[in-house]
Amino acid sequence: MTIDEIKRDETTHQSDTWAQKALEHLKRDNLPPIPDNFAVYFSYHSGDNPNLKMAMDSLLSQFESLTQEQCAALYQSHLSLEAEHRVLNETTTSIESELKRVMGVLDQTSSGASQYDRTLTNFSGTLQATVSLDQIRAAVNRVANETRVMADQNQRLHTQLAQSTQQLTEVRYSLDQVRKESMTDPLTEVGNRKFFSNELARATQEATETGTALSLLIADIDHFKKFNDSYGHLVGDQVLRLVARTLIENLKGRDIIARYGGEEFVILLPSTQVQNAVNVANQLRTNLGSKQIRRKNSQETLGVITISIGATEYCPNEDLDAFIARADAALYDAKQTGRNKVMIRLVAPEQAAAVQAKKEA
Ligand code: GH3
Ligand code: MG
Ligand code: MG
Repeated sequence: MTIDEIKRDETTHQSDTWAQKALEHLKRDNLPPIPDNFAVYFSYHSGDNPNLKMAMDSLLSQFESLTQEQCAALYQSHLSLEAEHRVLNETTTSIESELKRVMGVLDQTSSGASQYDRTLTNFSGTLQATVSLDQIRAAVNRVANETRVMADQNQRLHTQLAQSTQQLTEVRYSLDQVRKESMTDPLTEVGNRKFFSNELARATQEATETGTALSLLIADIDHFKKFNDSYGHLVGDQVLRLVARTLIENLKGRDIIARYGGEEFVILLPSTQVQNAVNVANQLRTNLGSKQIRRKNSQETLGVITISIGATEYCPNEDLDAFIARADAALYDAKQTGRNKVMIRLVAPEQAAAVQAKKEA
């Protein structure tokens, strides 16, 4: 006898035993040996359907024997073709909805996914028509292979995306740098006039919306022409850098500083009333006045540098040029009355009322 024959013989022998046990058990439980009942008891004794065995064991632990209804229910849930179809249907539906989700995602990716898409569509078609396990297995194999191909493609896509992300990050960084450069004064490294006009528009809008105070200072180096004429432009440049650094050191948080032109700097102080802005301005002036200017190499002392500052406070809804012109006028006052000082110009109350009325009209 071949091994197969031995095995078949053993199986036949075992089947006889299980059939016998099933019939005896049916008799004990007082159930007729009709095909469905026999199938349940045969399956129970052969153990070929673990779910049925578990369910029946559970019943037998509660009741001495099964009723016809219980037996029929076991058959329905575990052995009938209907049950198989139901399980198959449920599985198919859940796989299909999963596939739809995946296809939805793939749709958004690339045309490389179209082959995979076709395979999945065929697969769900196969599932709907499938009756045998072998056919399902074959379909699953096809999908598994295609999935592997797709995974490789995705890996490549992933690498490409990572590279693109890296490139975009670099481009964005370059753009940020260019943008920053276009807004920065190269000599002093504070904001330039363009930066200032952007910030002025933003800060005045914010002040109007939130009803908070916004002050503006314009600082101008005193007798700078003379200084340049005496020591040369390069030393003059050094002084401009020193002034900018002094301003930066003494300002904080949301304060905005820019080089407005030549030897003039503008400072915007959000949430600051003009009296406090004047205090800040005096602090800047005092701080700068305490610094001795020295020639870089020889350490020769060139004296001190002073600045004059004009201060004003924003009047909500007023013209931006009017705001700047007022600070400029205050600076002119400081120059006219002796330099190295801070002067204030404010909107007269009736002027503020006029601005407001114009806005409301
Ligand atoms: P005042 O106290 O009235 O402001 O007198 P001032 O000499 O400072 O004013 P004025 O407007 O007559 O001269 C400004 C000088 O600032 C002229 C120029 O030599 C100097 N200046 C402007 N821009 C630069 C710069 O980028 N580098 C250097 N070194 N000097 C500059
Ligand atoms: Mg000037
Ligand atoms: Mg000057």
